[in-house]
Amino acid sequence: MLYRTVPKNGDKLSILGFGAMRLASNEDGSINEKKAIAQMRRVIDSGVNYIDTAWPYHGGQSELIVAKALKDGYREKVKIADKLPPWAIRKREDMDTILDRQLEKLGVSTIDYYLVHALEGDSWDRMLSLGIIDFLEKAKVEGKITNIGFSFHGSNEEFNRIIDAYDWGFCQIQYNYLDTQNQAGTAGLKYAASKNIAVMIMEPLRGGNLSRPEAPPAIKKLWDMAETKRTPVEWALRWVWNSPGVTVVLSGMNDDEHIAQNLAIAEQAEVNSLSEAELKLVAQVADTYHDLMPIGCTGCQYCMPCPAGVNIPSCFELYNTALMFEEPQERTQFRYAVMNGGVRGNKTYASQCIECGQCMEHCPQHIQIPERLKEVAAFCEADGIVENVHSALSGNID
Ligand code: SF4
Ligand code: SF4
Repeated sequence: MLYRTVPKNGDKLSILGFGAMRLASNEDGSINEKKAIAQMRRVIDSGVNYIDTAWPYHGGQSELIVAKALKDGYREKVKIADKLPPWAIRKREDMDTILDRQLEKLGVSTIDYYLVHALEGDSWDRMLSLGIIDFLEKAKVEGKITNIGFSFHGSNEEFNRIIDAYDWGFCQIQYNYLDTQNQAGTAGLKYAASKNIAVMIMEPLRGGNLSRPEAPPAIKKLWDMAETKRTPVEWALRWVWNSPGVTVVLSGMNDDEHIAQNLAIAEQAEVNSLSEAELKLVAQVADTYHDLMPIGCTGCQYCMPCPAGVNIPSCFELYNTALMFEEPQERTQFRYAVMNGGVRGNKTYASQCIECGQCMEHCPQHIQIPERLKEVAAFCEADGIVENVHSALSGNID
């Protein structure tokens, strides 16, 4: 495992961090506690020393599972990152109440890296007006938190404004080779690094889209041109770690094979280790993906639930996959109906959108969701789709 130093405190953090937002799950969607704990301990035994959780992850269960995983001497081996949810704060006292509850859930006396979660311009202004600075500094003096940071999904201008507003120790941004111009972007990463602020990276694989082994033909053709052959996931992670401003890259690991792969890559991913030619190749892949991907959805779920019952990320994922992987439309329609409840009768289709706009307030990618859902509906919901699914399914069963 490679380590990088946090500029303001000298901590040596593993370049790979464990993101506890996509823990191993059972078939019914509940957390597979035994597996999740074993996986967390396995990565810690392999040198990972940064565990990232948050108040809303897994409906509040993530912090509790992290607490269990860090028993038996594991707490002392890692730094814990946890986050204050601005959307749950109505008054100054709510901040203390939530932090105290988080300490209790985690079973610790201090949270090493404490972030204000998913900030953007408006939520930052609201937190300021409610006394966030006083809260953070008091909590630090009391020893309840050690390092102060924020995670971010707004625009680059808002990012710089928040960076300049406080003496942050670290921040967490979405960054991958498709998001160099989006959100904080490369400019934001460099700006934070220029102020000695450690930068933790989330979504390095853009919700898993960049790690698909079966890349679209146009992308595969580009990767095949590389002198050194790498898997898509290795290209994506190596590209992020190549940047000098990056400290920790978070991965929501829940698959044993992926964990082994991530750990192996984290053994070699030094700063500036990709050649000019390799960086150019990745840029070409990014351009090609941008051309292929109709909707920039990462599957983060922040837009959910939809009051009209639309499964927004599922609709976008199926549509993006269809266009990127050049699936036959009939096959997409079948998968769409199966995945979105067309068979069970509790449909979660794009066409159910009533254009209330609620989802757009939460989308970090600033997707015009109702408009884009119309595209999805036009492509995926041809007449007779449900009947086709029934006959196709009975065909399969027979
Ligand atoms: S705009 Fe449409 S998709 Fe978004 S929350 Fe409202 S009904 Fe759901
Ligand atoms: S539409 Fe936006 S908020 Fe919803 S899953 Fe996609 S990226 Fe996330």
